[in-house]
Amino acid sequence: MQSDRVIVVATNNKHKLKEIRQILEGFKVLSASDVVEGFNPSEDGKTFCENSLIKAKALAEFSQYPVLADDSGLEVFSLGGEPGVYSSRYSSSGLDEDNIKKLLERLKGEVDRRARFSCCMSLIVGGCIIQKEGYVYGVIIDKPIGDNGFGYDPIFVPDGYDMTFAQMSQDQKNAISHRRRALAMIKEELEKIYG
Ligand code: IMP
Repeated sequence: MQSDRVIVVATNNKHKLKEIRQILEGFKVLSASDVVEGFNPSEDGKTFCENSLIKAKALAEFSQYPVLADDSGLEVFSLGGEPGVYSSRYSSSGLDEDNIKKLLERLKGEVDRRARFSCCMSLIVGGCIIQKEGYVYGVIIDKPIGDNGFGYDPIFVPDGYDMTFAQMSQDQKNAISHRRRALAMIKEELEKIYG
């Protein structure tokens, strides 16, 4: 089975699948919907790694192939790591615009605006669990700029750049993203296994 180089990813998000397929070149990447209908496990872990493992284990029940799951979000240091695992449901509506509004409100008058995007990837292969974390550090600016990307991209300026993630092209952002960094380490592990 391993010679098939097939991986099932615990998401149906088209953007994530595209990014993962680009990076895991040489592997056939299937989505959750290719192996099970209506995949949507509850993400009630306290960390990104707990949540990605919940998703990977849930999908492994249905897959004969290795499974990969990610969980990610934004952590603002002066807010003790908020919004963290609540990134997508920080405001009551959960809309990107409202999440950003709430975060900027919470940061009003705060001089320490350092933050990071974090991603934890969990891979289950041959009954073993491998977890890798990727980060991108930067600062939160005081108003949204840029139309690309999603989530908190319009208010996040990565270190070493003078533009937000939302002002970058998808390729530019993907080259330095937290997901990219975690996935690059997962790819190394897969190469060791598959040769
Ligand atoms: P999830 O990994 O899809 O559960 O992402 C959780 C939430 O974290 C998203 O809904 C976004 O609010 C935020 N997030 C994760 N990665 C990014 C990113 O690359 N840019 C902006 N927001 C992100």
